[in-house]
Amino acid sequence: MPAESTVLRYMTRFRCIAERCEDTCCSGLKVPVSESHWHRMRAAVVGSPEESEHLRQCVTLNPGGASSEHAFVQMRPDGLCPFLDTERLCSLQRRHGDAVLPDICATFPRVVTRRGEQLEVSGTLACPEVARLCLLEEDAVEPVPLATPSPHVSRPETARHIPEDPEDADTFHAETVRTAMLRLLHRREYPLGSRLAMLGQLAYGLDGFSPQETGSPLSEVLQRFEAPDILDAIHRDFAELALPGGPCVGLFTSVLKARMAANRGERFTTWARGMLQSLQLEEGGDSALGAAWQTYAERWHHLETQHGERVHRYFHNYAVHQLWRSPFSDSPSLLAYVFRLAFRVALLRLTLAGHPRVEELCREPSPTHEAREQLDRAAVETFQLVAKHVEQAPDFLSLAEGLVGTGRGEETLGKVLVFATF
Ligand code: SF4
Repeated sequence: MPAESTVLRYMTRFRCIAERCEDTCCSGLKVPVSESHWHRMRAAVVGSPEESEHLRQCVTLNPGGASSEHAFVQMRPDGLCPFLDTERLCSLQRRHGDAVLPDICATFPRVVTRRGEQLEVSGTLACPEVARLCLLEEDAVEPVPLATPSPHVSRPETARHIPEDPEDADTFHAETVRTAMLRLLHRREYPLGSRLAMLGQLAYGLDGFSPQETGSPLSEVLQRFEAPDILDAIHRDFAELALPGGPCVGLFTSVLKARMAANRGERFTTWARGMLQSLQLEEGGDSALGAAWQTYAERWHHLETQHGERVHRYFHNYAVHQLWRSPFSDSPSLLAYVFRLAFRVALLRLTLAGHPRVEELCREPSPTHEAREQLDRAAVETFQLVAKHVEQAPDFLSLAEGLVGTGRGEETLGKVLVFATF
């Protein structure tokens, strides 16, 4: 475990850009209101019959729910919060300050995790400004000491606590394993696909450890993944894999269509439709999937040739960020955790290559400054919309869960490799 509380560097640069933001924090979110915040909100508006009535209409009580979900904000049919004013700013915060806001509104887009005595601060890419800062700068995902008091930890009591269960090897040795996984991810002399394959092999090698057995067996496995000949061999074997990508493209197409049908708002729908049109995936069918895979591979080759450093940075930062942000306890096993990472990376690579701006810049014969700016904009939009509307969606999570099965064994490792080949 790090000896001190940390924050990922990009969050030290974060400032909400408010009315200049291309999105609003709350669009598409489910906003629970705790019992104490419900009382605070009501007390704040008590002198204004108009505001009291608005509050009554826009917040639905949740009888029998936990006290943290005493009520929910009733979003408007367009997915926006009913408390946004005409400048798309939060009217509750403007009039009554941060203290009345529900936890999710007061803390978004910060993510605070407590491991033992230490706090780790990162952010969610569902905020476009966080996505920009996290993806585009080379040093963005380095952990740096967290200042105290920190403006990013306004409600420490809401920090997510990661338990260390001595009976469960995955959680008990989580910090040692995460450090080893981060070391592997930083081996940038290998392509990201190979590094994901290495993470998969490492997780597979650690499968089935019990805490009582650990100590030297754990260090032995971890040390094996420091050895250049082992890493070279994984990279070589992985580079030789050639898998038909059509079925995976089909899976992701269904996910995006289901999210569009769930009416996730205009920004998401425009982006998803543009992506499906650009890869000619609107109609589907096996031949369309095969053709889309081919187009994807050609565009990706173009991006790597002309903007390799840039696209590698987006995905490297994304993968490292995931390891800092999402605890292993989110998944049934370490291998399932790596699978989810590979699965998300694959979806993001497909959707970025399908972005209409990327289609356009792939027609440029040589890299230009304007093309790189277009690419950055397409990447921020893609990663942000996927984070906000797809990655946490129940249908996406259950698809990932169904694919991963028990989350253990060779079959799951094989699936990690399939998605890592994207
Ligand atoms: S999404 Fe991010 S930048 Fe946009 S208004 Fe919310 S916190 Fe600010």
